[in-house]
Amino acid sequence: MKILEHIGKIDLDRTESERLESMLNHLHDVSSIVHALDECFSLSITSKDGVILYVNDRFCELSKYDLEEIIGQKHSLFDSGLYPTDHFNSMWHLLKQGQVWQSELHNRAKDGTIYSINATVVPILDQNGCLVNFLSIDIDITDKHQTEKALKQAQKNEFQTTVKHLQNAVFKYRKNEAGHIILTMLEGKLAQKMGLSSNWPRESRLEDLVSKRTFSYAAGYLERGFAGEQVNFELTLLEFVLLVHLSPLFENGKVTEVIGTAIDITERKETERQVKKMAHYDDLTGLANRRQFQKKLTETLHHSAQSQESFAVMFLDLDRFKNINDTLGHNTGDLLLAKVALRLQKCIRRADIAARLGGDEYAILLPSITHEQAQLIAERIQKEISHFFLIENLDIFISTSIGISMYPQDGLEAETLIRNADAAMYFAKESGKNNYQFFTSDLHRDMSNKMMLEREMHRALEQGHFHLDYQPQIDIKTGQTIGVEALIRWNHPKIGPVSPADFIPLAEETGLIIPIGTWVLETACAQNKAWQESGLPPVCMSVNVSLRQFMQKHFAEQIEQILQRTGLSPKWLDVEITESMTADVAHAEQVLNRLRDIGVHVSIDDFGTGYSSLSYLSRFPITKLKIDQSFVQDLTEHHQAIVKTIIDLAQNLNLKVIAEGVETEEQARLLRALNCTEAQGYLYAEPLSSENIKKRLSGL
Ligand code: C2E
Ligand code: CA
Ligand code: CA
Repeated sequence: MKILEHIGKIDLDRTESERLESMLNHLHDVSSIVHALDECFSLSITSKDGVILYVNDRFCELSKYDLEEIIGQKHSLFDSGLYPTDHFNSMWHLLKQGQVWQSELHNRAKDGTIYSINATVVPILDQNGCLVNFLSIDIDITDKHQTEKALKQAQKNEFQTTVKHLQNAVFKYRKNEAGHIILTMLEGKLAQKMGLSSNWPRESRLEDLVSKRTFSYAAGYLERGFAGEQVNFELTLLEFVLLVHLSPLFENGKVTEVIGTAIDITERKETERQVKKMAHYDDLTGLANRRQFQKKLTETLHHSAQSQESFAVMFLDLDRFKNINDTLGHNTGDLLLAKVALRLQKCIRRADIAARLGGDEYAILLPSITHEQAQLIAERIQKEISHFFLIENLDIFISTSIGISMYPQDGLEAETLIRNADAAMYFAKESGKNNYQFFTSDLHRDMSNKMMLEREMHRALEQGHFHLDYQPQIDIKTGQTIGVEALIRWNHPKIGPVSPADFIPLAEETGLIIPIGTWVLETACAQNKAWQESGLPPVCMSVNVSLRQFMQKHFAEQIEQILQRTGLSPKWLDVEITESMTADVAHAEQVLNRLRDIGVHVSIDDFGTGYSSLSYLSRFPITKLKIDQSFVQDLTEHHQAIVKTIIDLAQNLNLKVIAEGVETEEQARLLRALNCTEAQGYLYAEPLSSENIKKRLSGL
């Protein structure tokens, strides 16, 4: 794309240019606007500190500077001394609120000439809605100003010859005794272009010459001109949009005649309309964009605060859209997004506003609506979206998750309503997708609990609030401790103990499990080495690893490094994985083979609860199966059969087997009868502190 080529030339520091580039890549919105406007307008992109980052060829043409002379400069380069200062204050104010600013400016070109532009400045926001840069779209209106200047000149001399050659239309009118407006002159190339040739019937009453509607619209302004005012107004005549300027001519303090100029702004109006459209609408789907959505939401808030009506904010996110993009290509993805937009519009009321916020995220504003009505619309949308989409001869099925927040109960401010709708959407997704979910205060509590917990986990890791307990693993026949399983413990200074069953899944979700898991491995290995150093009989240390840890590219290498650092021999480490981690067979095979080469043991935890095929058991180099607690604690005949099968299977494959969660003598007896050799559970020992393990191992 052109703009990126330019950026390549610009000598920005790397981070700045990377940021700009990623911004342009991400903001489909902006890059496509720039692309679409490049041919017709003078464009510039300015950083929020006022530094010019990009200008296009037309900008250079107008300002008569070279690209290199402009980039890195500020807009004061073009200061003609004609800038109205307060204009700029209002500009910054509006832009910082994310709004669009428009004004006429007179700039000084490199050669000293003045050129006039109509500038539309649009703030560019990043995905989080933060202001990054400004895009300025300038329309050259020098022509208009030259006409006005020429007219002033013409009033002094050579009136007729000058006006005949003007690009625009010039006319004069006065009033007759009866008070009718009489047109006395009409000249200029625009008049000809409009088909109003010079054989315009002179001295005729205006009301006889134009339509009633035009006359009644224009008459008020013309009267004001005749009353001595300078008047500007826009007028649509035939298919032209005109900007009319009236200046009265005085004689002895009385207006005798009024001179008018009209310039053709048809094209400018059209482009202004387009610019406006692009600034407020998403060009892929034609829906409102984030900026427009926010504006409408603010308006609705004001309105509802007065009328006391409730309204709804809906957030929608397509489920598994990334899949479609990845497998069928972005083109298909874009077509789908546009079709989804059409269907959304079918489901909502006329006054509702549907917007695309970016990616596959949509939002809908539903003014004056009740909870029940909003629910009906959510159901309608889900039904509508669930019908297949036909795109390039493919039937595509997709679903959407919807979150809804209601004014006033879920928030009194735009930001809160949006955040809560987003949170509700997130929950809808979590609870199985293709769902809608209203925001509730429970959900809020859940969310903030989760967020609090995440913050606290970070802190616990930094401040060393985690520790490990170790649960003995027993040889059933001899009663000897042959190993221990490291189990993480978190004693929060205020909340008290937090169960790993509560925080491990969250750590997994947020990725914090990676540093936590590394800490566990390192601590467990160091502890085992320390026991051995102090002369205790060596035992195997079992460490739980999570999916994310296991999926790391260099997981096996990491283990190897930890063993080296702590000095523990690999044969005293046992890594507990679950069946689900072997779903990616190629990766699992690679990691497990590497671990076997290193000499580390691998157990399958919670065995029997997964649904994966058993064929992998012979394929992967595994050492041990851990029979899940659920079978052990409820040893019905059916469960006994399962346990028996697992034990036979293990024996056939030459694997060890351990029963978890053994709590009673009866369970131990049954397991022995089934030929189980190892066990772990409260019957033998609870998870113990390292001190207590030490005592136990030394036989105290
Ligand atoms: P798990 O790996 O299945 O660990 C066994 C769980 O059963 C432990 O719970 C243990 O305290 C408990 N347990 C042991 N004996 C008995 C018994 O006789 N009866 C009953 N009812 N329970 C028994 P804990 O410590 O609460 O850990 C829960 C889960 O959290 C673990 O299940 C494991 O999946 C995860 N976890 C614990 N520590 C770590 C860790 O360091 N890393 C990772 N990734 N996960 C961990
Ligand atoms: Ca375990
Ligand atoms: Ca287990």
